[in-house]
Amino acid sequence: NVPVITIDGPTASGKGTVASRVAERLSFHLLDSGALYRLTALQALRREVELRDEHAIAKLAEHLPARFQGEHIFLAQEEVTHAIRAEEVGNMASKIAALPTVRQALFGLQLGFRQTPGLVADGRDMGTVIFPTAKLKVFLTASVEARAQRRYKQLIDKGFSANMNDLLADLQARDERDTNRAVAPLAPASDAHLLDTSEMGVDQAVEQVMAWYSQ
Ligand code: C5P
Repeated sequence: NVPVITIDGPTASGKGTVASRVAERLSFHLLDSGALYRLTALQALRREVELRDEHAIAKLAEHLPARFQGEHIFLAQEEVTHAIRAEEVGNMASKIAALPTVRQALFGLQLGFRQTPGLVADGRDMGTVIFPTAKLKVFLTASVEARAQRRYKQLIDKGFSANMNDLLADLQARDERDTNRAVAPLAPASDAHLLDTSEMGVDQAVEQVMAWYSQ
């Protein structure tokens, strides 16, 4: 009975950073489920598979040669840690994430991350669909402005160019798609703790999650 902590929330809510810090504190494994959708999207873009070809995209997901080594993410032998963070890839990821067969294809892969001594899983449906029996479920939120500012800073720090108005529009479109899709829509699990990080630094958010976990 390996313990799982799920951290779900909208784009750029800070869940990735909080999840990896909590995993580090507990020496738990980390599942960045969004990376799996991004890796599938990157492959679809590169192979010019069209969004309407759901079957072909699900096949890519099913045979995804994903490897995680600490902070480094690989597609087969190629390191794509940086490439999958591009806005274009994120946008494609949120489109293919609405395809039921793609979600199905990534299901088993995600369950496999639950290994001793424990797992911190971050995404949109970790607490609702993938790990419904998780020991602790957290749903991170933040205002769209706070999230756009964070995403802007992240992109600039990584050497991408970014425009604040485009980012706001992108975030809103992505929230809309994630919230309104038919399968695994973005919503807190009924037993999730809500944490609004609009006015909160990472340290404080991590402390709150640790406090809930040790309750
Ligand atoms: O979290 P991140 O921005 O990397 O995720 C990329 C996209 O993958 C999201 O916009 C979302 O549509 C999708 N996703 C998902 N379910 C997850 C994780 C990510 O649908 N568990």
